[in-house]
Amino acid sequence: MGELRWAVTDGPDGTAAVVLPEDGAAARRFAEQARGGLWCAREAGGCGGRLVVDTAGDPAGDRPVLRHAGDARCAFVRHEESAGPAYDHLRYRPALAAWLAAQGAAPRITRVPGRDGHTGLHVALPGAALEVQLAPLTDLAWRDRDDRLRRTAARVTWLYGPDADVAAATEASVRGAALVLRRHDRGLLVGVRDARGAVRWVRLSACRLTADGVAVPGLAEARCAHASRSAAREDAARRTARQAARWSQRTGAVPWDVRTGTLPFPAAG
Ligand SMILES: [Zn+2]
Repeated sequence: MGELRWAVTDGPDGTAAVVLPEDGAAARRFAEQARGGLWCAREAGGCGGRLVVDTAGDPAGDRPVLRHAGDARCAFVRHEESAGPAYDHLRYRPALAAWLAAQGAAPRITRVPGRDGHTGLHVALPGAALEVQLAPLTDLAWRDRDDRLRRTAARVTWLYGPDADVAAATEASVRGAALVLRRHDRGLLVGVRDARGAVRWVRLSACRLTADGVAVPGLAEARCAHASRSAAREDAARRTARQAARWSQRTGAVPWDVRTGTLPFPAAG
């Protein structure tokens, strides 16, 4: 049995998530600041009940935990460890919602259940979708979800949390760049991850919501660089194929096998 360390401070249906510090002194300060109330977040799959900071189970008072104020029928009772992944999306959601509001959008944000109770977010916009992917997602699962999303939304923008790096790498290799999302102070940072794994960070507030999706400084450049590298690679491959064909015509030999990198026989002198 784990410990319950997560709550929201803005009511049973609230999204202002807080975590009880592990350090005793910091936890006592937290308890003082939380006089307005702590709730077991319904948005995280909790019961909406009141939570209290409890030091009773810990004689030294050094490691308080959160407990339900009364008897609660709650998914987190006896499964306290599942609260961390279930609350994760709430650590991104307020900053994301504030940014969307600043962009003049007031979309519906819905939860997407993920692996191990790790919840992501889906933002439905006119003709577009934003997917905040926080749970790990395999290459195949990403391709499948991406295909399905593109059937209903013309433009799909993925934002990958720290646990979804594999999916970020997949998208970057397919499209030349992927957007990664990290918490920073009370805000969010967006990183442009290129196909070679390099990441360039900007604040979410520096990004704009446009008709084409999310405009992030450096994103278009990363995609262009990838497209021109791909074009150069295809060019080189075509040149090699043409040279091989000419050589084969001239000598009547079997062309150089590019797969094995070996010549079928030594060139005649
Ligand atoms: Zn509860």
